[in-house]
Amino acid sequence: MTPEFLEKYEPVIGLEVHAQMLTATKAFCGCSTEFNSPPNHNTCPICLGHPGTLPALNENLLRFIVRMGLATNCKIRPRSIFARKNYFYPDLPKGYQISQYETPICHNGFLEVELKDGTMKRIGITRIHMEEDAGKSIHDFGAETLVDLNRAGVPLIEIVSEPDMRSSAEAYAYLTAIKSIVTYLGICDGNMEEGSLRCDANVSVRLRGAEKFGQKTEVKNLNSFRNVQRAIESEIERQIGLVELGRPVIHQTMQFDDNKGVTRPMRTKEEAHDYRYFPEPDLLPVIVSPDYIEEVRSEIPELQRIRRDRFVADYKLPKYDADVLTAEKSVADFFEESVQSLASKSDESRKAISNFIMGDVMRLMSERKENILQLKLQPHYLSELVDLIQDKTISNKIAKDIFPDLPGSTESPKQIVERRGLVQVTDADALRKTILEVIAANQDNLTKYRAGKTNLFGFFVGQVMKATQGKANPEIVNELMKAELESHA
Ligand SMILES: [Zn+2]
Repeated sequence: MTPEFLEKYEPVIGLEVHAQMLTATKAFCGCSTEFNSPPNHNTCPICLGHPGTLPALNENLLRFIVRMGLATNCKIRPRSIFARKNYFYPDLPKGYQISQYETPICHNGFLEVELKDGTMKRIGITRIHMEEDAGKSIHDFGAETLVDLNRAGVPLIEIVSEPDMRSSAEAYAYLTAIKSIVTYLGICDGNMEEGSLRCDANVSVRLRGAEKFGQKTEVKNLNSFRNVQRAIESEIERQIGLVELGRPVIHQTMQFDDNKGVTRPMRTKEEAHDYRYFPEPDLLPVIVSPDYIEEVRSEIPELQRIRRDRFVADYKLPKYDADVLTAEKSVADFFEESVQSLASKSDESRKAISNFIMGDVMRLMSERKENILQLKLQPHYLSELVDLIQDKTISNKIAKDIFPDLPGSTESPKQIVERRGLVQVTDADALRKTILEVIAANQDNLTKYRAGKTNLFGFFVGQVMKATQGKANPEIVNELMKAELESHA
């Protein structure tokens, strides 16, 4: 998009986000929500829609959506009802989906979202309501289509924003904030690629300064953060192109072609009345008392941005570190547990823990495709490792060598250092002896060094480190080496 067009037109974006709740059982029956079960294993007469069965609300779904409502500054309705959203599809055995329509339980909230340049932007939350997922049609079997109903009845919440975003970057920042909140609240795993978080975008453009919104389209089924941004950009571009040509933008549902990076029409949008919503007669109204709301409020942990700012203030970490460490709650918890078991309570040690987590720990997580809990690394082992560096028992280099042995280990860093004889050599006499041996064995380089090729210093130090298997204290070696090389000059 050329800047000239973005000066002339203003994009208007609203997002609808579906988040799959981490309850153990489905929304209205006792079936498991287990992800990897064999097809149609997690089903019962209720979620299969057999006549005469009655659904009952999963209390955890209610608890989770109230958490989300409170975390996004929503009003919580004391009384709300469920509605039937009627449509026919092979993966919807009941012929309708249980949802909420006119009385969403959470409404009129907002989020303060931090943009890349550090400024804050308030984005309104219109509503958050409860609903159930449909099943899944599988088309990979030649002419046949199979249906797996494990997902039918899995609890979802739908978070609908106001059309308050003005660029794809703002939409990205908003979605990132939503993901952070649902994962911190422990109500959703936030995985977009696996469909636990799904996003549709309502996009329109208008001339800058215009009051009235342009005709919007809905871009469906965006399956990654990157694609949300790309799809919105391409849709803005398409709509500006139409307006510039004097052609109308048609109200329709668009699909994003990941390979070509463009949006294209999917089908004409069903209007709300097509769904013939009516109150669900089989479920009681949802009554939420003030006491219940206070109980749920007490379950809400410190959220990411507040925790990040506290990491900067309490642990004197750079903002960059605090951002990386608090992106996932489990990593932030790990950092704080490690810091608490440090013997050397200095800012330097805390920064060293941060460096280890951002470097070695995260590298291992991505290599093994595991989260920090799955790594089975004990937080107090990491603090012990850092303490060993701080009290000069081992060098940084040795610490890095030991680190890969720690996940899953029953042996502490101290025990590993003792067993493998890795204690740092700080004895000046012993180190001087090795230095003299290295110099004697490298007379050519010594001559060159003395002729002015002083960058060979690193070579000599490297040889000493090699001869001591990394155990020499580098500061002492540097000092002694310099003295030896120059005293004979
Ligand atoms: Zn069931």
